Amino acid sequence: MIVVMKAGSPEAEISRLTEEFVSWGLTPEKIVGQHKVVIGLVGETVSLDPLQIQEVSSWIEQVLRVEQPFKRASRTYRHGEASEVAVPTPDKTVYFGEHHPIVVVAGPCSVENEDMIIETAERVKAAGAQFLRGGAFKPRTSPYAFQGHGESALGLLAAARHATGLGIITEVMDAADLDAIADVADVIQIGARNMQNFSLLKKVGAQDKPVLLKRGMAATIEDWLMAAEYILAAGNSNVILCERGIRTFDRQFARNTLDLSAIPVLRSLTHLPIMIDPSHGTGRAEYVPAMAMAAIAAGTDSLMIEVHPNPKKALSDGPQSLTPDRFDQLMQELAVIGTPLGRWTKQPAIV
Ligand code: PEP
Ligand code: MN
Repeated sequence: MIVVMKAGSPEAEISRLTEEFVSWGLTPEKIVGQHKVVIGLVGETVSLDPLQIQEVSSWIEQVLRVEQPFKRASRTYRHGEASEVAVPTPDKTVYFGEHHPIVVVAGPCSVENEDMIIETAERVKAAGAQFLRGGAFKPRTSPYAFQGHGESALGLLAAARHATGLGIITEVMDAADLDAIADVADVIQIGARNMQNFSLLKKVGAQDKPVLLKRGMAATIEDWLMAAEYILAAGNSNVILCERGIRTFDRQFARNTLDLSAIPVLRSLTHLPIMIDPSHGTGRAEYVPAMAMAAIAAGTDSLMIEVHPNPKKALSDGPQSLTPDRFDQLMQELAVIGTPLGRWTKQPAIV
């Protein structure tokens, strides 16, 4: 349920109402929108009558029920307004959200060694990316495949962050590694395979770093938003949703089916920022540019692109990784679509 306050409602009245709702056994959350303040109410609201709540204060404009099971993640919870996720990086604060330029996250699937991660970071930064991605702990289908260099790779990500000023996004698989990852990462990634690892979701929800929640490969939109709800309910309001392809019946030519319809669907259902990952979405470098362009045309807020200095030699996901040169070219192609949409800022290359 949400309580929409009239414009100009006094702070004291908002505090009084908040206390009143607490005394009813509810969990009120004050949400400051562009024009209005909304008080989100989570808890046993089924028996409450919106009209009765309305009578508690003459400053209440409207009381609305959030019909969806994902309460905090729903667009209604913020009275239709988009939220933004602000991420302080060494260079600057980067904003993810509908009213901001598209954020590009690029880098290798895995952090392999110091030279390759620094070289990739410098190249993707020069091309205009704001974040470096790179796995230290890798979720691999085979236990015999490269599992990532773990903690030592975190040190290399920290070095790349220091050298370039880029923000860092890397995945957590095990809650035991969360503190070490949060020391280095500006955004913590929950991978597709852990989208419904509820204990991990609660743990990332209980810490401060923003969370990138990838869609499970067989997750419905509702499953995904309910997973986001776990993080929001645990107290972390900084969640970005990343579509990375789902399993359909044909895997012969593309690794997954990139669900670009998720963009308008999410836009109508949730206030959370959206990211598209055409690299895992297609599994093939040659299909990545078309899907990245389509994602911008469809309204994504950010992109995640795998880039490797030598894809043929990559320890993971080489076939879907762009070379730095191809990535540079792609960024110029993306500018052609992003600029007229008012969503592209050419990043100065300061490396
Ligand atoms: C990754 O980002 O490298 C990754 C493993 O992604 P996903 O969880 O989407 O498969
Ligand atoms: Mn990968």
